[in-house]
Amino acid sequence: MTGGTVYDVVVAGAGLPGLALATAAAHAGLSVAIADAAPIAAVPVDAASFDLRVYAVSPGSASFLHAIGAWQRLAGERLAPIEAMDVRGDRDARLEFSAYDLGERALAWVVEERVLRSVLVAAALEAGVEPFGGTPFVGLQFAPDRASLALPERTLDARLLVAADGVRSWVRHAAGIVAEPKPYGQQGVVAHFECERAHHGVARQWFRSDGSILAWLPLPGRRLSIVWSAPDALAAELLALESAALAERVAVAGNHALGALRSISASAGFPLALLRLATPVAHRLALVGDAAHGVHPLAGQGVNLGFGDAQVLAEVLATRGPVADPGAALTLGRYARRRTEPVLAMQAVTDGLIRVFGRRDPGFAVLRNAGMVAVDRLTPLKRMLAQPALR
Ligand SMILES: Cc1cc2nc3c(=O)[nH]c(=O)nc-3n(C[C@H](O)[C@H](O)[C@H](O)COP(=O)(O)OP(=O)(O)OC[C@H]3O[C@@H](n4cnc5c(N)ncnc54)[C@H](O)[C@@H]3O)c2cc1C
Repeated sequence: MTGGTVYDVVVAGAGLPGLALATAAAHAGLSVAIADAAPIAAVPVDAASFDLRVYAVSPGSASFLHAIGAWQRLAGERLAPIEAMDVRGDRDARLEFSAYDLGERALAWVVEERVLRSVLVAAALEAGVEPFGGTPFVGLQFAPDRASLALPERTLDARLLVAADGVRSWVRHAAGIVAEPKPYGQQGVVAHFECERAHHGVARQWFRSDGSILAWLPLPGRRLSIVWSAPDALAAELLALESAALAERVAVAGNHALGALRSISASAGFPLALLRLATPVAHRLALVGDAAHGVHPLAGQGVNLGFGDAQVLAEVLATRGPVADPGAALTLGRYARRRTEPVLAMQAVTDGLIRVFGRRDPGFAVLRNAGMVAVDRLTPLKRMLAQPALR
């Protein structure tokens, strides 16, 4: 059934980038609907537990989220600023960044997914976005003047359809865009721990000689969250450990930098994949977030790239001229041009690091560690390396 309404924008997928785009587009005066198989509602935050999925939100993303009325809704006690980063190579090389040195309040803010999702849902509803939650996508059609997304009980027509439905995007597939995520043969193992010593807002990362990358992110209080990007066999081994044994393994891998660790969550693993598309647009369609690109989580930039997509697409829509069609090829071309470079740059950096640290030969290990030491001594170079993460 078609309701007769043709929205300016229909967003397919209410993950974080989808919700942010919907809210920003509504702020720009466009009529917007958003649909998702899951309910679209603010979830009460459980004070006693922390969501396993946490994100390091960059200052650039935070200021965009502030501009659309979401960031200021976050409760301070659920936010942990990253004030410094301590990155170690596999031969004692060390690279340190501090927010103070770079003239920033924080390098990033660690926030749980469900907390961020709740404030984004509240901001979207307040901005007038129409939610269609609990509705899987069942059909997709394109006409010269519109895209039509079929849900089980209605069809949403739009001048512009935005695919924000994740790395295995149903919309991308239904639109005939061929793109297969390329598995890294690794999983991101995530878990939360209480630590014996205060973390003082320092995030830590170890590029290990076994080819895995272990990241410790500060959580509020004396807690931390880990992402251990590990080859499949090691990931399976870590996920099979009892919680106390995993805590000990993580503490040892991090040289007991924060003393003993105690597990405060289950552990989970996420398969990691690279996804590259030739272009994030097609006829009456724009892709944002993981539907448009997959990156390795070693730089913690997946969600920030998605917020960057949302911000740029909303800007392009807002400045297209008052009567222009939001789904016009010209408008979408401007979005594609502005996103190609930052996405490729982030994929090149993360891929390059994986390749450099994936090499086993000892000569190469000496070289890459020497490289890290050299970078650490050069403040302007460090600043340049940190810039993409701050955006
Ligand atoms: C281990 C790990 C750690 C990470 N850590 C970080 C980090 O520290 N910092 C960071 O920035 N990023 C991180 N990321 C990346 C981050 O999780 C993603 O970039 C981000 O969640 C992408 O959001 P998205 O909305 O594009 O996709 P998703 O979060 O997958 O959302 C897609 C939405 O679409 C809906 N949907 C999908 N298919 C359908 C359908 N057929 N019908 C109806 N609805 C549908 C889903 O219900 C969902 O709500 C990490 C990822 C992993 C795997």
